[in-house]
Amino acid sequence: MSKTFKIITLGCKVNQYESAFIEESLNRAGWQRAADGTSADVLVVNTCIVTHKAAHQSRQAIRKAIRENPGSRVAAIGCYPQVFPEELEAIDGVDLVANNRVKSEIPRLLTTLPPAPEKTLNLPSFEPETPFDTLDIQNFPGRTRAYLKIQDGCQSFCTYCIVPYARGPYRSLAPEKVIRALDGFAKQGYREVVLTGIHLGKYGVDLSHNMDLKQLLQMTEKEGLPLRLRLSSLELRELEPEIIEMTASKPWLCPHFHIPLQSGDNGILKKMNRGYTTTEFAEKIKAVHAAIPQGAIGVDVMAGFPGEDNAAHENCLSLLRDLPVSYLHVFPFSLRKGTPAWNFKNKVDNNTIKQRASELRDLGRKKRMRFHNSCLGHIFDVLVEGPYAEDKALMTGAGENYLPFVFPRDDHLQGHIVKMRAARTAGDKVMGTVLI
Ligand code: SF4
Repeated sequence: MSKTFKIITLGCKVNQYESAFIEESLNRAGWQRAADGTSADVLVVNTCIVTHKAAHQSRQAIRKAIRENPGSRVAAIGCYPQVFPEELEAIDGVDLVANNRVKSEIPRLLTTLPPAPEKTLNLPSFEPETPFDTLDIQNFPGRTRAYLKIQDGCQSFCTYCIVPYARGPYRSLAPEKVIRALDGFAKQGYREVVLTGIHLGKYGVDLSHNMDLKQLLQMTEKEGLPLRLRLSSLELRELEPEIIEMTASKPWLCPHFHIPLQSGDNGILKKMNRGYTTTEFAEKIKAVHAAIPQGAIGVDVMAGFPGEDNAAHENCLSLLRDLPVSYLHVFPFSLRKGTPAWNFKNKVDNNTIKQRASELRDLGRKKRMRFHNSCLGHIFDVLVEGPYAEDKALMTGAGENYLPFVFPRDDHLQGHIVKMRAARTAGDKVMGTVLI
C-alpha cells in the first residue's frame, strides 16, 4: 500500500509554491495525499516566521500535528528552522527539521526518514554562492493559474524583516529554464502564470550577461507562448519605466502591480531602511496610473513601526488617500527577534497599532470600491476560475488587472480567457457580461 502524507502550509505564495513542489515530488515517488479526516504516514509543516504571530502559528501547527497523529512522522521545514532551528528541534515528537537550504532535497529526506525515534536535524546554512534551488512543478491541481518561482533570497535587510536571514542571498532561475517551464505550462493548457520570488525585482543580479527582469520578459515575448504573465510584487525602484511601458503596451503582461510602501512618512521609511522617499513613491504611482489607467496598484503598508507617532501615521493616511492606489494590504507591525527593530526605542503600544491598522484597512476598502467603480463599463480579458462558492449559479474569474468577476455559470468556459464587460459592482466583486 502506498505511503500517505499531509502538508500544512503557512505564510507566503513562495511557501505555497514550495509545498506544491513537495506534493508533486511525493506523488511521483508513489506517495498519496491522505484523505481528510484520516492520519498520514508523514505530516509536513511548511513554516513561516515573517511575523511573531506566524511563528506562533507554525509552532501550534506542529504541536497539533503531533498530538492528533500519534503514529505519524512529523517534519518541520522552511523559514523557521532556517533561523531558529533549536526551537523546533526541542519540540518532542518532531522527526525531521529541514531548512530552506535543502528545499529541493526534502522529498528525498521524507521518503527515506530513518525509523523513529531517530531525528534528522537541520542542515548547513546558506553560503554566498548558494545556487538557485530549481523546484520543478508541472501541475497545480485545483488551480486555474500556474505559479513559477524564478527568484529566491533577499539582501535588502529592511530593519523589521527576518526574510534575508531565512531565505539567504539573491538567486535566480536561469532564463532558459524559465522559458522551458512556461512552455510546459502552456502545453498543459494553463493560460496565466504568476512569476514569483522573494525579491522579484532582483531577478538576474546573480546571473551573468546582465540579465534582469526586463530582459527576461523580452525573451519570453519572443517565444510567443499562448500565456499571460503576472508579476507577484515589485519594489518601487525595481519597477522601472521600461517595465511600466511594456505592461502598458503588451497584452500578455498583466497590468497589475503590487508595490510595498510600508510607511508614508520619510522618517519612518529611513528607520526601516527602505531606501526611497514618499515623493518618489507618489511619482511612481502616478506614472503607473497615467500609463495604465485601468491597471491595479496594490500597496503593502505597515501600522505601528517603532517611532511612528500620530503625525507619521497621518502622513501615511494622507499620502495614500491622495494616490490612485487600488487596494491596500495592511500589516500591523510585529516585532521579530533577530532583526534590528527588535532593539528600537519608542515602540508603539498594541492598541494604537490595532487602531491605526483598522484606519488603514477602512481606507483600503474605500480604495478598492473606487477602483471597482472606475472599471465599470470597460472590457476585460477574464480568466475563468470555476463555480462561485457562495452561489452555484455563478462563476468567478479575474481580469488582467485582477478585477474579481462573477458572472452566469457556463462550465465550458473554465480555464479559458473570455472577454467580459464590467457591468456593476456585486459586493466585493464585479458582475460581468460575457461578450464572446
Ligand atoms: S525587501 Fe525588505 S521587506 Fe522585502 S524581503 Fe527583503 S528585507 Fe524583507
